[in-house]
Amino acid sequence: MQEMTGRSGAVLRVDLQAVQNNYRLLSQKLGKAQCGAAVKADAYGLGAIPVSGALYAAGCRYFFVAHLEEAISLRPHLPSDARLIVMHGSPVGYEAEFLEHGCMPVLNSLAQVAAWRALAKQQQRALPAIVQFDTGMARMGLSAQDVDVWRNDAAFLEGIQVEYLMSHLVSAEDASNPVNAAQLARFSGLRSLLPQAKASLANSSGVFLGAAYHFDLARPGAALYGVAPVAGQANPMQAVAHLQGRIIQVREIPPDTGVGYGSTWRSRDSAKIATVAVGYADGWMRSLSNRGVAHIAGQEVAMVGNVSMDTITLDVTAIADSELQEGALVDLLSASHTVDQVAARAGTIGYEILTSLGHRYQRVYR
Ligand SMILES: *Cc1c(COP(=O)(O)O)cnc(C)c1O
Repeated sequence: MQEMTGRSGAVLRVDLQAVQNNYRLLSQKLGKAQCGAAVKADAYGLGAIPVSGALYAAGCRYFFVAHLEEAISLRPHLPSDARLIVMHGSPVGYEAEFLEHGCMPVLNSLAQVAAWRALAKQQQRALPAIVQFDTGMARMGLSAQDVDVWRNDAAFLEGIQVEYLMSHLVSAEDASNPVNAAQLARFSGLRSLLPQAKASLANSSGVFLGAAYHFDLARPGAALYGVAPVAGQANPMQAVAHLQGRIIQVREIPPDTGVGYGSTWRSRDSAKIATVAVGYADGWMRSLSNRGVAHIAGQEVAMVGNVSMDTITLDVTAIADSELQEGALVDLLSASHTVDQVAARAGTIGYEILTSLGHRYQRVYR
């Protein structure tokens, strides 16, 4: 791919070296525990194939996706010793596809356990899986009642080779939240069901909660992609996504002129407005209307008016015309204007900013 083309409205640079550096930092923090990677949702919008390749090269061997379909499309791009784990487990009737494609399910319910057991019986061999407990999220995994069924059934896991017991933290980014310790205690207690099995609890933020949360395998996603793992603390991760939008028009407007749909912003004095070819269809959320900012030659400019489907409008009155040529690029995401900052302005979290990144960008992988 060419380094730069005027055909698209924006250039998204994905710094794979930063992903690798982030992986190494998390691995270091984990000490003896393994560091896997959540690459679901196309590696949080950044491109599961190139990102997973970079992670594999950095030593990662456990790749977590949500859906079977994601695993199947990623499988041919990873070496055979990479484990691909489907966190939603198998949809009913699709169990055999896991074997066909070399993927491992997370078993989240009695029905999923039973179906995997039945497949093992039919195959006459032990089949690997991860078993998830719900320790406080009420979302997925075996509930307390399910665990009782397990306790009363000696053949519960017949034919299932449990590689890991797993659970997921509710509020790991908030180290002071007592729910962390409560979940840790619950999870540690449940491990007595299968004491020889390895365990996995920590997401990105969980890695920063200390060694007690590390167990044998962590499953970070967001931190690999530059999102701050600990609320209210300096972000130790490197920025991965760098987004630049293209100026397609600049105009001078007189005082009291409405800008954009609904004229939600009006100029007080005469002003200079730059239209940039990135809109809500590109993940530049409408909630950034009259709240977002961009940077031109290091100078912050305000997003004014509503975000349109294909464009945003910036108040560039203070910017020299030499920086505002048609086709010039303005910074929307950078090391100094991070996904977390954009998320705060948009009223969401960095995760949603990344996973919303558009498919019309020219993508450049470094
Ligand atoms: C998404 C997800 C992760 C990764 O979480 P991050 O907060 O992005 O590190 C880990 N485990 C489960 C079960 C998940 O759904």
